[in-house]
Amino acid sequence: MNQVFIGIGSNKNHPYFRIYSVLKQINRIKSTRIVKKSSLYETKPLGPQSQPNFINAVIEIKTNLNPHELLDELQVLEKQHNRKRTKKWGPRSIDLDILIYNRITMESRDLIIPHPGLEYREFVLIPLYEITNYGYEIPKYGKVSNLIKNL
Ligand code: ADP
Ligand code: MG
Repeated sequence: MNQVFIGIGSNKNHPYFRIYSVLKQINRIKSTRIVKKSSLYETKPLGPQSQPNFINAVIEIKTNLNPHELLDELQVLEKQHNRKRTKKWGPRSIDLDILIYNRITMESRDLIIPHPGLEYREFVLIPLYEITNYGYEIPKYGKVSNLIKNL
């Protein structure tokens, strides 16, 4: 089984309820189960400030899907929740990002792992710190605790 961390964000249409329901959906993806969940964190939006705060969380899953198969499954869920296509960094019902996949680093047209920007995003690093062991290292970026010190 592969160890994967997923970042979840929502700031539209009842974010707490949405995250709760998307967690149940993730557990129903084939050959996939959630093994850890962070607390839910309320954070200020990136980009335009005239939108509601985000609710963010990070989960750890175990899965037999490869990175692209997993991305496809997550995008099906995103589409179900985000009926309308909205602008970059605008409000959204659900954003699901593959943050880390085993010790892989990859950059393909539609999939970059580790997820770009995670190394300086408080709303990713703090929940990740909560659910990993002290000393855990993100491929390419190093210890979560060091990245948090640099924020
Ligand atoms: P962001 O998550 O950076 O705010 P979006 O969710 O709108 O932006 O970006 C969606 C696109 O990001 C998808 O079409 C997907 O192909 C691409 N993408 C690249 N790397 C990843 C990743 N690690 N996890 C999820 N989506 C990714
Ligand atoms: Mg995304």
